[in-house]
Amino acid sequence: MRKIIIAVDGYSSCGKSTIAKALAAHTGYTYVDTGAMYRAYALAGMRGEAVQSLRFNEQNHICLNGEDVEGLIRTLEVGNRASQISTRKEVRDFLVAEQREMGKEKGIVMDGRDIGTVVFPQAEFKLFLTATPEVRAFRRYRELRQKGDTSMTMEQVMADVNDRDYRDTHRAESPLRQAEDAFLLDNSYMSLDEQYELLFKMVDIVRGDDC
Ligand code: C5P
Repeated sequence: MRKIIIAVDGYSSCGKSTIAKALAAHTGYTYVDTGAMYRAYALAGMRGEAVQSLRFNEQNHICLNGEDVEGLIRTLEVGNRASQISTRKEVRDFLVAEQREMGKEKGIVMDGRDIGTVVFPQAEFKLFLTATPEVRAFRRYRELRQKGDTSMTMEQVMADVNDRDYRDTHRAESPLRQAEDAFLLDNSYMSLDEQYELLFKMVDIVRGDDC
């Protein structure tokens, strides 16, 4: 069974991290959430702190200059700030270099916006996930409510999803786009189990398990 790189890209709130974590558990590979890196970088800016190091600890939490900031980066505010700073070339150059280093031994599942196009254009399996903006806004809204966050109406969450999509796809530096050789999956009307069944089979074929 060969070791490969699995790149998972797509729009915000379409279940990228859930799918990527499941693929990592299935293959026994390391999971890297690159969005957490952009979020931690944004948090540093909000605090007026310089980024000296960004590392994942044993619990796979992102650590900014040695501090576990996982509990601070999942807010809409940090997400929006991350989407803004991710347009800057020097930020992307720094984070892409870190990400390439993490994947140099392969055996990695990385999710983000530019993994299959920029970070690892040579990845053996590329997945591009999407869902309709309405379905993604509803998922985000439900997630916020489950966390007890009632600060946003469904309309506000929808506007936020549209803004983020626009910024992610229109920026000059590494805009979000599907790699030509990526497998496109619209999961608007698919259950997680249906997605797992399909993707585990595909990944096993690429790894050579089923050949
Ligand atoms: O995926 P997540 O919502 O955590 O990412 C936060 C923001 O970071 C995204 O909206 C996107 O603008 C940016 N990002 C990026 N490239 C990546 C991962 C995230 O530009 N590889």
